[in-house]
Amino acid sequence: MILPSSSVTTLARLIPSFVSKKTSTSAIHRLLHSSSKRSNANGSSGAVKTAPTPPSGSGGGVLTGILAAGAGFAVGSNIEEIKGVIGIKGANASPKVDETSELFAKYFPRNIVLLFGPPGAGKGTHAPLIVETLGLPQLSTGDMLRAAVGAGTDVGKRAEAVMKAGGLVSDDIVIGIIKDRITEKDCRHGFILDGFPRTLAQTRALDKMLVEEGASVTSVIDFSIPDKVLEERITGRWIHKSSGRSYHAKFAPPKSMDASKGPLPENMKDDETDEPLIQRPDDTAQALGKRLRGYHKETVPILKHYIPNGVVKTVNANQKMDIVSAEVMTALSRAGGKK
Ligand code: ADP
Ligand code: ADP
Repeated sequence: MILPSSSVTTLARLIPSFVSKKTSTSAIHRLLHSSSKRSNANGSSGAVKTAPTPPSGSGGGVLTGILAAGAGFAVGSNIEEIKGVIGIKGANASPKVDETSELFAKYFPRNIVLLFGPPGAGKGTHAPLIVETLGLPQLSTGDMLRAAVGAGTDVGKRAEAVMKAGGLVSDDIVIGIIKDRITEKDCRHGFILDGFPRTLAQTRALDKMLVEEGASVTSVIDFSIPDKVLEERITGRWIHKSSGRSYHAKFAPPKSMDASKGPLPENMKDDETDEPLIQRPDDTAQALGKRLRGYHKETVPILKHYIPNGVVKTVNANQKMDIVSAEVMTALSRAGGKK
């Protein structure tokens, strides 16, 4: 995929070493798609997560495929073609799939979903289900910033201390990242924002970007949860750095953890790769306090901004993961859980 030049400019700011080595745009793209904090349901992951995509690149995902099928070519199509539409691996691509996808991109509004909630609410845990269901990419500003920190770029260096202390990175940086990212081809049917917007200034900037194409945020999934349960979730979170898979010492331990010894660096390993898990430097009780203060002051007003549009859907995130998943599925449906 060819990135728009504006994206390359922003990525160059984030990860200049790749650009200065004249890395191709597709290599930058691969970079962004190859590390993340969370895996998707397919086991693949990316600093910018992408939906599982049928071989044709038709937009991916079960719903996108079913919609495309309903658009006029399911009946009479051969089974391989239908499999291609609904994203079953190994299916053959069909030019009709691409054609239908283009029609959707041209005539249907983009589906723009915001994952909303405090740190530890479960946004990342449930994101793969949403990605899989809608077939849209997940854009996590936290992941992108961590990638920049990991790559030691100027932006990364500036963001690192703020992030570690639980503060917010400047609006200009994150708005620029998102503005470029949503012009990429995989976002043409829509996208899922995780961790953006976090301030009213970011919200206004997002609305402005969308209004230019006559679009708007279509749903806000509000993970509602009392602050008091978040410290245990955050301080118990362990992640696999390269894939981003997330575990919890008590609620979602890796297979390697010996319950009698509790979580130790030597027995906390990724289920899939057996590589060591780590704890994020900002996942401390102290930084959480600051993050929660920032959340209530800067981020919660965003909900009030979107409630009059009828797009806010609240789930009770203080329940067992599978029950939360079921509520998320209801909230994703057109009328489900509206506020
Ligand atoms: P967020 O992305 O909103 O910051 P995560 O999805 O990473 O939050 O979840 C934070 C931690 O809490 C993770 O360690 C995760 O395993 C755990 N967790 C998520 N949902 C639940 C739940 N419903 N019950 C118990 N623990 C949970
Ligand atoms: P969590 O889901 O645990 O709250 P994230 O991974 O979304 O954490 O973000 C980690 C950190 O990255 C934030 O605490 C903040 O410092 C920075 N960050 C991420 N997104 C934004 C944003 N939209 N605006 C400002 N800072 C951000």
